[in-house]
Amino acid sequence: MLYILWAFLILLGLGLLFGLGLAIASTVLYVKEDKRVDEVAKMLPNYNCGSCGYAGCKEFAKAIVSGKDTNLRKCKPGKPETNFIPIKQYLQEHPNDDNTKVNVTF
Ligand code: SF4
Repeated sequence: MLYILWAFLILLGLGLLFGLGLAIASTVLYVKEDKRVDEVAKMLPNYNCGSCGYAGCKEFAKAIVSGKDTNLRKCKPGKPETNFIPIKQYLQEHPNDDNTKVNVTF
């Protein structure tokens, strides 16, 4: 009977130790995500076809928001009225943290 109690206490201790480790790791390794990426991704056609040269719409949105890519025409299924103009307007209204704007072309 005593063995079961020890096994329970050891497993409980290990569970607490690993839980604490995960809590610390999630705080230390936290990566802040730019909320504009999700908003721009929603404005893309969301076919995830890869025609733009990226793995999907979210990856293309990340490239646009970071300024790595500025040409919205790379999104072949995208249309100026429904996709590109809203993205351009959104990025003009939501500048970077240093108040610079993301410029895109189409
Ligand atoms: S081409 Fe357009 S629809 Fe296709 S993955 Fe790229 S952003 Fe998405």
